[in-house]
Amino acid sequence: MVKRVVILGAGYAGVRSALTLETAGHRDEPEIVLVNKHNYHHFMAQLHESAAGVTGNEDMRISLKDIFNETRVKQIKDEILRILPKDNRVILGDGTIDYDYLIVGLGSEPEYFNIPGLEVHSLTLRSLNSAKLIRAHIENSFASFKSNPLRRELLTIVVGGAGFTGIELAGEMADWLPKLAKEYDIQKKLVSIVNIEAADTILKGYDRKLIENAYEILRQKGIRIITGTAIEGVSESEVKLSSGEVIKTRNFIWTGGIRANRLIALSGFTTAARGRAKVNSYLQSVEYPNVFMVGDNAFIVNQATGEVMGPTAQVAIQSGRLAALNVLADIRGEGLREFNPREMGRVVSLGRKVAVGKIGREYRTTGRVAGLLKEAIQWKYLFSLGGLRLVAKKLLQ
Ligand code: NAD
Repeated sequence: MVKRVVILGAGYAGVRSALTLETAGHRDEPEIVLVNKHNYHHFMAQLHESAAGVTGNEDMRISLKDIFNETRVKQIKDEILRILPKDNRVILGDGTIDYDYLIVGLGSEPEYFNIPGLEVHSLTLRSLNSAKLIRAHIENSFASFKSNPLRRELLTIVVGGAGFTGIELAGEMADWLPKLAKEYDIQKKLVSIVNIEAADTILKGYDRKLIENAYEILRQKGIRIITGTAIEGVSESEVKLSSGEVIKTRNFIWTGGIRANRLIALSGFTTAARGRAKVNSYLQSVEYPNVFMVGDNAFIVNQATGEVMGPTAQVAIQSGRLAALNVLADIRGEGLREFNPREMGRVVSLGRKVAVGKIGREYRTTGRVAGLLKEAIQWKYLFSLGGLRLVAKKLLQ
């Protein structure tokens, strides 16, 4: 009997798993089925650009048809409601699907930490649609200001959390909002961006020198950065800080942390921090060896360094590939390989064509060169998802 591998989610990890199964598998084994609620893959690592009106929505996604054109990957567009690992079955919005092997790459969702009012009164950057919503919401606020010129809170953008997502978003906003102000004939000086961080630094855990560079670049762009201060409550028109300060805003975006898709815990998998499934070094769920967890869904400890791997695109791509190879090895009765992710460094964009970055352990870069590097990395992700064919298609778009 031909084995069926079902992949849940078409993020970086899921797409990479499907393509690796296709290229490393035999002509008609295994059967590969990819389930996703949209018929496209969105570029999660670039959503801040879409939220800040820089790139059109079409530039932020590729249709799954284009990625899997001329492959034998079958696609199902449906909502995934529950995994029943004891029965080797997944419940979908419209039916069920059984599997021999399951690869779970359902990504993350915002973590709200039970902060009063936060979930109800915040915008988040979790998907292409939520990015579009941020952009539309801010445009709407600027438009409303024209008929309510005393309501400065309509022109105040507050970003909660200065990790990588918050910083990239704030940097992009600082480039976009002056243009938006001009479009609506609003004085630039009335617009403000505030980025609030509970830790005593932005980009916690990153290279100290690059943090200083990033801070300086963002400050010059006019962003007010408040560190060492937690957001303690949010309402429709205010953000309350641990310092006692209350900021009036109609545009609050929460980038204060993520957790694994709730379906993992709801489906009974053993989880570690932030709802990520516990896995062994082969990425198998600790209780079900035919279920592999990839990307943000796995609590992965780097075997070489003992560090917990962050939920990043590069870890997602590498784990997706390894899970696929391990599924094939298991089908063939061969030994599985351990996950030893390569740390390739990280680049943080700070708006249009400016970034700070660290490559490998040593090399640091700031400014335009880093901005170009960030673009190159985005093309590299695209290449790893669909080879030269997709890169060429995007270039010609
Ligand atoms: P994060 O958890 O890395 O950062 C969230 C920040 O919000 C933290 O610094 C935290 O201290 C702060 N915070 C939490 N509660 C707060 C509160 N009540 N008030 C104020 N601040 C609060 O989350 P993220 O930035 O969304 O990143 C998620 C993952 O994605 C990380 O692994 C990150 O490295 C990765 N990522 C990488 C890139 C890149 O490589 N360029 C870009 C975006 C995200």
